[in-house]
Amino acid sequence: MSRQYSLIRNGLYLGDMSCALDSALSLELDIRNVLSLTDRAAAEQVRTVQTEVCSEIKFKHVELEDSQNADLLSHLDECCEFVATGLANSRGSVLVHCFAGVSRSASVVIAFLMKSESLSLQDALDRVRKQSSCISPNIGFMKQLSLYGEMGNRVDESSMQFRQYKLEKLAASIQGGEQEIPAAALVSDPLLQSHKSKDTVLHKCRKCRRVLFTEDAVLRHEPGKGSEAFGWRTKARESTRVTASENLSTVCSSYFTEPVEWMREGLKGVIEGKLLCPKCNSRVGAFNWAGIQCSCGRWITPAFQFHKNRVDDSKYIPVSPLLKTT
Ligand SMILES: [Zn+2]
Ligand SMILES: [Zn+2]
Repeated sequence: MSRQYSLIRNGLYLGDMSCALDSALSLELDIRNVLSLTDRAAAEQVRTVQTEVCSEIKFKHVELEDSQNADLLSHLDECCEFVATGLANSRGSVLVHCFAGVSRSASVVIAFLMKSESLSLQDALDRVRKQSSCISPNIGFMKQLSLYGEMGNRVDESSMQFRQYKLEKLAASIQGGEQEIPAAALVSDPLLQSHKSKDTVLHKCRKCRRVLFTEDAVLRHEPGKGSEAFGWRTKARESTRVTASENLSTVCSSYFTEPVEWMREGLKGVIEGKLLCPKCNSRVGAFNWAGIQCSCGRWITPAFQFHKNRVDDSKYIPVSPLLKTT
């Protein structure tokens, strides 16, 4: 009744839940490492069944839904490492499985091939599909695998792309009703950062000179196409037609940043609002977890937007004891 595991390459199998629960087949194939990308109950069930026939199996469980919003990317390095270690160390084989063997487990196997054999996403996808024609990573996972490739087949937590990715995931969960903003999602307050170098550019409140954010917190974007990008608005208001020449340009009149620690209270439980200087309370910008359109036409999601005419830029001067200026 259970189908065969798909052999992806020597010692590496991809399968569904029925495969993972078929301990006789595991014994036959000498499975010694099982990576479950399922809910907890399913992973426990697999562990119980498999341990009964072989006590030496190593298990790893990553709780992950097969949803395009699920964060697979953050787990890819540890998953690939588990597979690689299993293939290198054990006499036996490695099984990567999820519920249907179609999306979650296939994505991990694809990432492993990309990483271990330096394959492009397309080549790795084709390879796995040749062995298991039913595989189909969901569209969110495909985007994450593509990002994984762009980062050099590893998760580079300091890269702009990954920081943007994590923010988008957080924005989706906040819009879904999540209230808590994890501390790791906030950039530490520039007043408290001790590692600033001489060349760090500081962006200060124009009114009171309080440092609001450093250059490192700025999320850059390709300027959009100015007025063209506002076309939907033109159509929406046929009577007050906005013409191409009207005030819209490809110049960005704002900085968009990661959320900074001092914003925390103001962000709680709301989707959008003003950004007020934490010292003088004057308005310096706005935020919106659902996004804000830059003056260049590009949508930034989520958006923590500072109006350039409300902030001044200056280089950090190490001799000034910034901590005492608050
Ligand atoms: Zn812009
Ligand atoms: Zn201020």
